[in-house]
Amino acid sequence: GTLQKPAMLDEIESLLTTHLEPGARISAEELRSAIDEHELLVHYQPKLRRAGKDWLVGAAEALVRWRHPRLGLLYPAEFLALAEQSGLIVDMTDFVLADAIRQIGQWRKQKLHLAAAVNLSPRLVQDLEFPDRLVRILTEFDVPSAQLMLEVTEAASLDDPELVMDIFTRLRVKGVGLSLDDFGVGLSSLTQLYKMPFSEVKIDGELIAEIAGSKPAAAVVRAIVDLAHNLSLTVCAEGVENAQTFDFLDQCGCDALQGEYIAKAMPAAEMESFIGVWNDGRHRS
Ligand code: C2E
Ligand code: MG
Ligand code: MG
Ligand code: MG
Repeated sequence: GTLQKPAMLDEIESLLTTHLEPGARISAEELRSAIDEHELLVHYQPKLRRAGKDWLVGAAEALVRWRHPRLGLLYPAEFLALAEQSGLIVDMTDFVLADAIRQIGQWRKQKLHLAAAVNLSPRLVQDLEFPDRLVRILTEFDVPSAQLMLEVTEAASLDDPELVMDIFTRLRVKGVGLSLDDFGVGLSSLTQLYKMPFSEVKIDGELIAEIAGSKPAAAVVRAIVDLAHNLSLTVCAEGVENAQTFDFLDQCGCDALQGEYIAKAMPAAEMESFIGVWNDGRHRS
């Protein structure tokens, strides 16, 4: 028979291939068949939420991966652009949403009450049929809409803000949370914070990574937290990589924390044991 390849080799393989031109070696046809042949999978990264003095696992962010038959484990940076260009992003997102919502439903049955965070590409928030499709998936797996947070970037750069607003409002009315992802770098206009019905601001990892070495960066982060709170938005920081950053964000009043200092993205089965260990220890830092 064939030898089982250790998971570590997939990691190495993906490191080796990361710097090649994405799309140059992958075609839309391959991605199409990957969706149909179940080569896509979802890893989950814990999102801690503040609970008094403690930090508990409150949610899991769904992050898509592709177990490619020739190229090994591929990360979104290598196929997301292709998915967008080809339109396959719609089917890919439906797959990720269904996986995440099914997983949340299964965890609920095991008395693990987690929310799911799912990334949504700009294209989906211009699709008027999306909110109803989403509600059907939530109903199918018996998951309350409040247990879902959609993470969206660059909403303001879209060509049809009225359409986006319409879709966001439909989602919020149904009780789904909306997070402004990757805030603080790139195209993050401040007006989005109050013009669009977001419920959370998620500060980008690039900015969070600078806290430890830069007082000005720390001041900017602190100001974002205050600004968001003044607008009644919750704040999540992503890319928390060390204890110093964790403690700073704790003191700033951040509501949610995520990053490799806490845990990397992992298969769903590993999440269950991680949650047990973390919540029992009631780790603060
Ligand atoms: P994102 O939503 O900002 O997700 C955070 C990314 O940072 C993830 O990379 C995560 O693994 C990584 N990360 C987490 N903690 C740390 C840390 O402490 N340090 C550092 N340096 N990185 C950390 P990943 O999984 O490669 O995803 C990259 C991006 O791809 C995501 O950024 C998101 O924009 C997009 N993406 C992922 N899954 C999906 C999906 O299902 N649909 C869509 N539309 N986009 C997705
Ligand atoms: Mg995200
Ligand atoms: Mg993010
Ligand atoms: Mg990011």
